[in-house]
Amino acid sequence: MSSSSARFDRGHTDDLMTYLAASPSPYHAVANAGERLEKAGFRQVEETAAWDATSGGKYVVRGGAVIAWYVPEGAAPHTPFRIVGAHTDSPNLRVKPQPDTGAHGWRQVAVETYGGTLLNTWLDRDLGLAGRLTLRDGSHRLVNIDRPLLRVPQLAIHLDRQANDGLKLDRQRHMQPIWGLGDDVHEGDLIRFVADEAGLDSGEVAGWDLMVHSIEPPAYLGRDRELLAGPRMDNLMSVHAGVAALIAASASDRLDHIPVLAGFDHEENGSESDTGAQGPLLGNVLERSVLARGGGYEDKARAFAGTVCLSSDTGHAVHPNYAERHDPTHHPRANGGPILKVNVNQRYATDGSGRAVFAAACEKAGVPWQSFVSNNDMPCGTTIGPITAARHGIRTVDIGVAILSMHSARELCGADDPFLLANALTAFLTD
Ligand code: ZN
Repeated sequence: MSSSSARFDRGHTDDLMTYLAASPSPYHAVANAGERLEKAGFRQVEETAAWDATSGGKYVVRGGAVIAWYVPEGAAPHTPFRIVGAHTDSPNLRVKPQPDTGAHGWRQVAVETYGGTLLNTWLDRDLGLAGRLTLRDGSHRLVNIDRPLLRVPQLAIHLDRQANDGLKLDRQRHMQPIWGLGDDVHEGDLIRFVADEAGLDSGEVAGWDLMVHSIEPPAYLGRDRELLAGPRMDNLMSVHAGVAALIAASASDRLDHIPVLAGFDHEENGSESDTGAQGPLLGNVLERSVLARGGGYEDKARAFAGTVCLSSDTGHAVHPNYAERHDPTHHPRANGGPILKVNVNQRYATDGSGRAVFAAACEKAGVPWQSFVSNNDMPCGTTIGPITAARHGIRTVDIGVAILSMHSARELCGADDPFLLANALTAFLTD
């Protein structure tokens, strides 16, 4: 690729909007990533099959996680990896095992809260229901009921005069959505309905992983449409940019490393699962890739020692109404380009040498970049970066995009930042 010309533009953001709307659950996010990869010539490999030494684009899907990589022709077993890490999950409300409930003539769905969701942002929205059904034969079926189906109704101001002085929401009592009327609530009603929507007999459904989503599509916002409002930008924006960057890198004939995209599930509750960053999935895939090309332990050790990961996730843009919550001099702005995320206590994995890697990628891509660090009096969030670094011993740099309203049902970012991120990631994966 040419070294400094920008590859992605607003067309990338348009495509992100399509991706966000079509990905109401991690399972949809990886399926839609797989679809884009397939179109670019990548092929899915099964974890249960024997892997071979063939070159080309490959990807593994496990639950809500996807690992994709491109093996250049003739890549030696000790070839290092360049990894873009991200996560597919977003805070939301998820259906409980016995979902059918209700009171006083209202039909309701019992839900758990997932991750650190901003509860109030789910109130009075038109909500759909989506996720994965597991059939009796163990196969899965995606389902997406993308119409106004549910609502968590807020209490009227007349019945809660203090609502504007600090809204108190109880996760159990106040967050159960209604989905219609009826006194005759029976166990199995919701799953029968969902199975029917998926064109299945409910007797075939043996399990489910269902969650609610705002049906309002992503939209450009602002005087000059310079902003993007939408759901799940934390962190599907990074997954989407990573897929685009990996596909772009796979077209390069000068790769001296193996570019990788790792999209993990369960980041929003600590990454501790077989599809989360704490699990062995990424390490297994990388190791199997080394072994499939005829390598041994020494090749793996050499490959891992030369590997770098850019862990991409959202960070906080400076909020005009709460500027004092941010560091006084580090004020990431919307459309200011991707952010380097620093925390010396290793909530982020970035150090000085990581800064140099990121700065070089942005410079090569002709992309501006910014630094994020927390106000010392504010707790700092974390992400998959430090986990990847500690678990696999891989040099890792935490980066991302500055947004407002992180963990809201509808977040906000600059409309240029998604493609500026994609250009930086492409430069990193292609370097
Ligand atoms: Zn995130």
